Amino acid sequence: MAIFEKAPAKINLSLDVLHKRPDAYHEVAMIMTTIDLYDHIELTPIKSDRIEVTLYSRFVPNDERNLAFKAARAFKNKYHITNGVHINIEKNIPVSAGLGGGSTDAAAVLRGLNKLWNVRASVDELAELGAEIGSDVPFCVHGHTAIATGRGEKIRRLPPPAPCWVILAKPDIGVSSGTIFRNLDIKNIRHPNTKKILQALYARDFMKLCASIDNALEDTTVRLYPEVKYIKEKMQMAGATGTMMSGSGPTIFGLVQQQSKAKRIYNSMRGFCQEVFMVRILG
Ligand code: ATP
Repeated sequence: MAIFEKAPAKINLSLDVLHKRPDAYHEVAMIMTTIDLYDHIELTPIKSDRIEVTLYSRFVPNDERNLAFKAARAFKNKYHITNGVHINIEKNIPVSAGLGGGSTDAAAVLRGLNKLWNVRASVDELAELGAEIGSDVPFCVHGHTAIATGRGEKIRRLPPPAPCWVILAKPDIGVSSGTIFRNLDIKNIRHPNTKKILQALYARDFMKLCASIDNALEDTTVRLYPEVKYIKEKMQMAGATGTMMSGSGPTIFGLVQQQSKAKRIYNSMRGFCQEVFMVRILG
């Protein structure tokens, strides 16, 4: 019997980089929330002790480099599973976009295998395993709205933002998080006011949230890829109440409460890039 898991994309409401750690990772504080843009994962048991991945994407490998494959291998090793699995990924989330596409696939595989093989691992255990795969995986295992600290593995659940629409506009480039972190001038970055964003979430204050969202990586990504700034300006001019780059970019998102306004912004952004989405926050 196959297991189906939805793998939602995330956006960052904030991303702060505090310092570089002795283990070469960066200490971060990221407030993230899930949105209703999904990859779909299908897990089917197979007789041999193997992991197979199928997906249609020009940009994502279907071998052991795939984060879904890595998640299945980590799960099998941790729980000493000798069964095999076929993973089919229906990819809808843009790749190398700052929307956590690979991480959410990995998280969905961990959740799904837990059911398929009846392991009964807790969400915390799955998130801990996910941290070995990537720093956004623990958040994706938990979902909803949360702040991730440490190198992304410490998760604290937060109240969701006030209901709103999210318009995503991805410039026609892919950005590697590694490149952005390597080019980060850590002494001169702008730090988001994380406390203010937390206050806005607890107060469910949409205007305050929009005024406070911020991303310490944005200046670096913009320096390397000026088109990101161009798309952000277009999103602001189109009338989004809050606008920011998600993750290490290049996707720019706009937040707005009225559906009619969201539609107008969506239509206007389609004139500037091919990948534009209008979605809701799942939170
Ligand atoms: P984040 O926001 O977590 O930094 P991202 O959205 O910027 O992630 P991804 O879409 O996760 O980036 O892709 C980053 C890299 O991971 C790409 O080079 C891609 O080929 C690779 N990758 C491996 N497995 C997957 C997967 N299942 N889905 C998407 N990308 C994957």
